[in-house]
Amino acid sequence: MPDDSETVAGIAISSAGRVIFDDPPLTKGDLARYYDRIAPAMLEEIADRPLSLLRLPEGMAGERFFQKHPGKGFPASLKVVEIAESDGARHPYVYVTDAAGIVAAVQMGTVEFHVWGACRDKLDRPDRLVFDFDPDEALSFADVRQAALDLRVLLADLGLASWAMLSGGKGVHVIVPLKRTAGWDRVKLFARGVATLMAQSQPARFVAEMSKAKRKGRIFIDWLRNERGATAIAPFSVRARPGAPVACPVGWDELPEITTAAAFSTVAALERGWSGVDRPPPQTLSPGIVDAVEARRAAL
Ligand code: ATP
Ligand code: MN
Ligand code: MN
Repeated sequence: MPDDSETVAGIAISSAGRVIFDDPPLTKGDLARYYDRIAPAMLEEIADRPLSLLRLPEGMAGERFFQKHPGKGFPASLKVVEIAESDGARHPYVYVTDAAGIVAAVQMGTVEFHVWGACRDKLDRPDRLVFDFDPDEALSFADVRQAALDLRVLLADLGLASWAMLSGGKGVHVIVPLKRTAGWDRVKLFARGVATLMAQSQPARFVAEMSKAKRKGRIFIDWLRNERGATAIAPFSVRARPGAPVACPVGWDELPEITTAAAFSTVAALERGWSGVDRPPPQTLSPGIVDAVEARRAAL
């Protein structure tokens, strides 16, 4: 019997030849090697954050499930942090700090990596704010792209610089790196305020409520990624969707030329890394900024 195991980043990958994606053809071994090579870029945004892993142990054709708690047989490279949940009890969550941790997750069948907006040493102080643009199916990518560009301007007016990422699915995420001064309350209020401001000023284009019925022909500005325990797809994560697209950071200046949220393959993502993407430094979400958004809303 041929030996179907291979070692990547020090992790033994079992069934390395198992087909995870048909087209482009990607095996479990291919995925492990992709994640090992992208790890230095990816770790900048995922190290030390509680994760939610989307596992597809049998590949795209089989079952899939999200997992945030460590499971039976998880390798030690997948580290564990105890987190108090709303029931008061502490529960173990998975996080990684190195390529071996990322590859160990792939060994467990992980295709997608989703991250919290806070790091394990200060779980109540978010350090990234995410706006996730979710278009109704009828809309074109050009509509989503323009929404992200408009939000960039609005945030800049409020004194905040941001960067952008193609989700690899249908949308664009706009991310604001934060200094860890505000708690989830302020971050969530701000995110909701901005989404509501956009929806109220241009109701034909945007909606700030999740309901699919209200989305008809519009873009849902998903501000709900900004809660304790909520996650968003990690930069450079492969998506478990046809074609194995990657959630890929893009420069604001290149976004206008991009025609789909699934523009980049694993090969393209490895070539790009962070090149062309200008991530601003962490910024302060001052107590007054929520009021500034409310004032603009009141002035509509
Ligand atoms: P798309 O561009 O297709 O919207 P997306 O990654 O933004 O891609 P969403 O459906 O908008 O996908 O979901 C946003 C995020 O919410 C996901 O990336 C994920 O982190 C989180 N999420 C959604 N559903 C679940 C779930 N069942 N369990 C854990 N996290 C989830
Ligand atoms: Mn989305
Ligand atoms: Mn969403």
